[in-house]
Amino acid sequence: MRIAIDGPAASGKSTVARLVAEKLDFVYIDTGAMYRALALKAKKAGISFSNADEMAELMSHTYFSLSDSGIILDGSPLGDEIRTREVSLLSSDIAKYSYVRDFLTEQQRTLSKQGNVVMEGRDIGTVVIPEAELKIFLTASAGERARRRVKQLKSSGVEATYDEILAEIERRDLNDSTRSVAPLKAASDAIILDTTGMSIEEVVSRIVSLAEK
Ligand code: C5P
Repeated sequence: MRIAIDGPAASGKSTVARLVAEKLDFVYIDTGAMYRALALKAKKAGISFSNADEMAELMSHTYFSLSDSGIILDGSPLGDEIRTREVSLLSSDIAKYSYVRDFLTEQQRTLSKQGNVVMEGRDIGTVVIPEAELKIFLTASAGERARRRVKQLKSSGVEATYDEILAEIERRDLNDSTRSVAPLKAASDAIILDTTGMSIEEVVSRIVSLAEK
């Protein structure tokens, strides 16, 4: 069985998808981590995302795989350096290029063939695995998402104000929903869960019970 979980930035997708995968003993695949890792790799190589030729060259020697601890890039597990606020913005910038999306979509389709998976992102139910047996679209108000993200950053020792984070989330929402390729939207057969005011446990058990139906 494949479960697709999509939704906007900081909607709690990663936490929820990881816990759902744990409960059902499915493989968890975080596709945002792939956009983040590729953006960071290109940045470190000094390549402009808009340079299609240089990006094609870089992608021709970029290899993603999976281990028990998550996504592996070029043989190494991804570290916390892909989680910075800077990389969050870079990943949403790189995600608008069709050659990047085509490349990562192909890699994600290959990874999705690992049996039972929970795959999480922005276009999983619409583009990557539209044939997924269960599709969930998580939403929450931008204010609620900003509050959750500030709290999460604080717990990892990063100070950020609510206003700064809200502005970053709104910028990523705008990028994700207005890009011409694979804009963020719920698949027509997705179950939409508005998680504003819901606890993580409530969201997880709702999805697990949908999967067990
Ligand atoms: O989910 P996460 O915030 O880690 O994703 C980082 C960025 O990657 C998002 O802002 C989005 O622009 C992009 N992304 C995407 N399609 C996916 C997963 C992530 O465009 N399937």
